This record gives sequence, structure tokens and C-alpha cells, in this order.
Amino acid sequence: KSTTVPNIDDSLNNLEDDDEDDIVDLAANSLLNKLIRQSLVESSHLVEVLQKDPSSPLYSVKTFEELRLKEEILKGIYAMGFNRPSKIQEMALPMMLAHPPQNLIAQSQSGTGKTAAFVLAMLSRVNPLDLFPQCLCLAPTYELALQTGRVVEQMGKFCMNIEVMYAIRGNHIPRGTEITKQIVIGTPGTVLDWCFKRKLVDLTKIRVFVLDEADVMMDTQGFSDQSIRIQRALPSECQMLLFSATFEDSVLQFAERIIPDPNVIKLRKEELTLNNIRQYYVLCDNKNDKYQALCNIYGGITIGQAIIFCQTRRNAKWLTVEMMQDGHQVSLLSGELTVEQRASIIQRFRDGKEKVLITTNVCARGIDVKQVTIVVNFDLPINQTHEPDYETYLHRIGRTGRFGKKGLAFNMIEVDKLPLLMQIQDHFNSSIKHLDPEDMDEIE
Ligand code: ADP
Repeated sequence: KSTTVPNIDDSLNNLEDDDEDDIVDLAANSLLNKLIRQSLVESSHLVEVLQKDPSSPLYSVKTFEELRLKEEILKGIYAMGFNRPSKIQEMALPMMLAHPPQNLIAQSQSGTGKTAAFVLAMLSRVNPLDLFPQCLCLAPTYELALQTGRVVEQMGKFCMNIEVMYAIRGNHIPRGTEITKQIVIGTPGTVLDWCFKRKLVDLTKIRVFVLDEADVMMDTQGFSDQSIRIQRALPSECQMLLFSATFEDSVLQFAERIIPDPNVIKLRKEELTLNNIRQYYVLCDNKNDKYQALCNIYGGITIGQAIIFCQTRRNAKWLTVEMMQDGHQVSLLSGELTVEQRASIIQRFRDGKEKVLITTNVCARGIDVKQVTIVVNFDLPINQTHEPDYETYLHRIGRTGRFGKKGLAFNMIEVDKLPLLMQIQDHFNSSIKHLDPEDMDEIE
């Protein structure tokens, strides 16, 4: 394989030039989602509830007042700009705040208000006068732990004397230190160490145990076992809460192993659909040809903002340079960037500072830019066994049926990839039309 790219911009050339696909890192994506989130994610589905005791009445709330929260917590919630509970919160909060405490397993996609809900539960159950850890929250990474801690700090702004401590790698606490903060948030390894080896946290005094991002947690070697070891040492009256954005069987099995007698709440995700997307393909011989076709499309129709997906970092970089040299305002989002850098690129793009965003698969699921109506598959998404990657295709160009605007998608296809594209078309039972890039009349 050739590694030299003609006329490549020096600064880009200095980036690590690997030809690898970007691997999707669940924890990084979750963090990215949090960093770029602007508001609650809505769902048109109904919340499904499975009560541990089906005969007990099912409460849901439409206002925060109904929850009879402490005044300072209510003030914190309103200061965050929340007016009413989110869909999942309507059902989850009454269960989480019930007396006696109930255990809960809740699944709903990222952005639906899970974190806010359990932070509210933790703050409500803390006794600020008790100067020892009373709530323990496990998170998959350092950064995600910090994000949750920020929510505690925001929502707990008016709660005097409630403090957070982070049990994360690098937070060195001298032996024998007495932890007086009531809420501990950390990663399983460090928490285990603090509880068992260093005896900094007395698990028998924990009242609320939260296992956040269970699906991401399970993805990390060792975290499930460590979490279970921690859970086993908790007192039986401790309230146990588990949250996950997805609910594959493996996650549910893990959830049921670790949370005794739970209520289960699920909110299905708004499905992605290709129904309101017009899809086209352009036949090309090679990379340069694809680029030419892209330019023709650009010349032929009015484009607001576009996202272009490439299969490898190298292709993405190459395309970025080509487009820049032709005077387009483009930005490149790829896996070698830190999550913070990615978030800032996405924000700039959202603000319209760049018209084109070129990216690999890293962010296919993280990005939600409402104003984008054009998506280009510069390379078709394929998996390791060289079959079409249907899910990625859907995530790149699909819109939610309910909120989606109409969209346009272009696939740049080498002739030998055409059968793969046809498989995609059949899979989704949708039509992908051939387009002659010299003749754009067909589109507008
Ligand atoms: P999740 O944990 O499911 O990803 P979050 O609790 O982080 O969801 O909430 C997603 C976004 O919505 C955050 O920006 C949060 O501040 C906001 N949010 C949460 N609950 C509400 C609410 N009841 N009203 C308005 N905004 C909310």
C-alpha cells in the first residue's frame, strides 16, 4: 500500500498516519455524547415498567413538586433549567424516592435524563450531617465519573455541606485519611481498592449504590466482576440502581445478577429510518474519481452543511486536504483526537463555522447535527469480513422518523462494491438510485 499522498498539508501529515479503521470506543462515545448534548432527547415511545411487586400501585409524576423534595434540591433543579420531569424520570423518580427504597434497573438512550434522576436520588438520601460516604456511584471511566460529579455539584448547589469525592486513578489519598464526603463517584478498580485494601470507604454505611452505564461497564474487562464484588459487600437495605443506554440480553443478565428484586423501566429508542432520505449512488473508478464526483455534486446543488464519511483515517485525511486545497471550509474529525477536541469540532460545525465535516466511523453515532441534510458515504461502511455494515449505514444517514427532516445521501461506489450497495438496498428495502454526477437535474 502506498503511504505517500501528493501535496499533503504538513500539519496533517504529521498526524499519526495509520490505515486502521477507527475503533468505536463506547466510553469515549458516551463522553462525547455528554459533552455535545444540548437538551433532553425525546422519545415517542411509552415507558415500559415491570414492577417487582405488580400489585403495588404505580406512581408517576408530572411535576417535580409532587416528589416532595427538599427545598434546596428543588431550587437546584430549577436553577438547571428543568421545568418538568423527563419521560423516564416521570416513572423512575417516584420509585427511586419511595420509602422503603426500591431497587431499579433502567434503560433508556443517552440524553433521556437518567443521570439527573439518580443524582436527585443520591442528593435526597444523603444526610449532610453524617460525615462519611453514603452514596456510591460506579462509572466506567475517570472522565465519565467527573461528568456525573459535575451534575451533583450543579444540582446540589444549594445543598449546604454535601460534597463529592472521586475514587479514580490518580486521586491519591493518604492511608488513614478519613473520608468525610458523602458521595463517592469512581471507577470499579479504584473503588474496590479504596473499600477493601485501603479501607477508606465503609461499604456497610452506603445507602444508595448506583451502577451507571452498565453496558459500557461490561465492555471493559474486569469491571463486571469488580462491580459485583463491591455490590456483595453492601448492606441489604442499601438501595441499588442500575442504568444502561442499551439493553442487550447480556446487559440485562448482568443487571439482574447485580440488582436484587428490581423494578425494571425501559424506554425504547426512537428508531432510525431511511424513509425520509433520498439515497443515490455514483459509480467511480477510484479515489480521485470519487472526489471529482463529490465536486460535481457540490457544483450542482445548493448544500447547507454536509457530513462525509470515510472508512479509514487515511482516506479522511486525504479528502480533507483535497477539499481544503480547493477552498472549502472543512474540518476533520477522527479517532486520533481526544474526546474534548472532538466535542469542540462538532460544536464548531454546529455553529456553522465549517460547512463540511469529514469523519470516520468514530463519531457516526455521536453526532446529531440537525441542520445537516446531506450525508456522503465516500466509502461504503463495511465490516472486517468485507460485508456491508448495515447498522453503521443506518447510523450515518438514518434520521428518527418523528423528528427527522428530509435528507439526501450520496454513496460513492467503486464498481466492484456495487453488489454490497445492492445488499444494503435490499436489507433496508429502500431504493438507492443511480446518479450521473454530470447531470444533477434529477435531484432538485
Ligand atoms: P442521560 O443520563 O440519560 O444521558 P442526562 O441526565 O445527562 O441523561 O440528561 C440529558 C440532558 O438533559 C442533560 O443536559 C440534562 O441536564 C438535561 N435534563 C435532564 N433532565 C431534564 C429535565 N427534567 N428537564 C430538562 N432537561 C433535563
